[in-house]
Amino acid sequence: MEALPAEIDDHRKLFGKEPWEVVYDPRDYCIICNTRVDEYGYCACGGAAD
Ligand SMILES: [Zn+2]
Repeated sequence: MEALPAEIDDHRKLFGKEPWEVVYDPRDYCIICNTRVDEYGYCACGGAAD
């Protein structure tokens, strides 16, 4: 899959990779916002679960 142009690729700017490269653990959901947590431990509420 081709990368998006850098100037519009806000996801890569924010997370350092493309959206489809984010690896989620299907067993790992945030207990606060109930979204998936990625391999860095971030979720939709920005790691407030820590
Ligand atoms: Zn959360």
